[in-house]
Amino acid sequence: MTATVIDGQAVAERLRAEIAADAADFQAQYGYPPGLGVVLVGDDPASASYVRMKRRACEQAGIHSVAHLLPKESTQEEVEAAVEALNNDPGIHGILVQLPLPAHISEERVLGLVSLDKDVDGFHPINIGLLAMKGREPLFTPATPTGCMVLLQEAGAQLEGANAVVVGRSNIVGMPVALMLMKANATVTICHSRTRNMKDIIAQADVLVAAIGKPAFIKGDWLKPGAIVIDVGTNKVDDPSQPRGYRYVGDVDYESALEVAGAITKVPGGVGPMTITMLMLNTMKAARRLAQTITL
Ligand code: NAP
Repeated sequence: MTATVIDGQAVAERLRAEIAADAADFQAQYGYPPGLGVVLVGDDPASASYVRMKRRACEQAGIHSVAHLLPKESTQEEVEAAVEALNNDPGIHGILVQLPLPAHISEERVLGLVSLDKDVDGFHPINIGLLAMKGREPLFTPATPTGCMVLLQEAGAQLEGANAVVVGRSNIVGMPVALMLMKANATVTICHSRTRNMKDIIAQADVLVAAIGKPAFIKGDWLKPGAIVIDVGTNKVDDPSQPRGYRYVGDVDYESALEVAGAITKVPGGVGPMTITMLMLNTMKAARRLAQTITL
């Protein structure tokens, strides 16, 4: 079997065209653009690059963006003040705090301060709590897990009653994607670094979401034949054959998985472009909600 490749880049481009049209309609209707506010603390090159990519994608779609770029030695109060400024800025509808924050900053306090109405990253504990509760819906769901769910839909995954295995339980990927799969009525198993017999668990998975940050860790012969595989892992590995001397690979060994899976995402070009797109979609949703509240 050769798996169908789930093309996250193509899905993201299609959705971004729709978002750009929606942003233009918004601007025409209200006379101002939807706005995203970003807080970046420190000079981690990967975080700075993610922020640049997110802002560029927003600007291309007609979403205005404002960034608070704070030095790494900023105090808790200074970071909180940046969030408060964005909370109080009527031109900003969505707020993104780029993680990780420096170790001396309380991420919990900062994320808890983001206005619920502007929590486009979906990391506010109330939004996560609503995601976890039966019969409740969060205002926003986190971008990467939402991107995974859209790609599963694109791949035609039947989630109801399916065995879904999530490898990784981080606050930003594994945990929320497991909650979203459970809301979609899958039977969810979460694996992490202390899990025993992970291969046996993965062998039962109709749907596998891998988010551990270990290059090519999950091998093709661990998979259930026909499984739908969403590979969130984005791992930089040395590759002298590349002009830059490195390339990115997922947490799943792509070549061997291609022979067994029914469908699989690529790295890069799978979940990555979807993450930014979901952030943009959430920003449009936030802008429309806030604009309607103001005009009511
Ligand atoms: P993280 O916070 O480091 O969490 C890793 C998770 O994997 C933890 O729950 C850890 O278990 C588990 N784990 C680690 N080694 C394991 C092993 N050998 N077996 C089973 N579980 C193991 O990472 P993250 O932020 O979730 O990111 C995961 C990957 O996704 C990274 O490669 C990251 O770059 C990528 N990512 C991509 C996007 C995107 O947009 N494409 C967005 C976010 C993240 P414990 O909880 O027990 O420690």
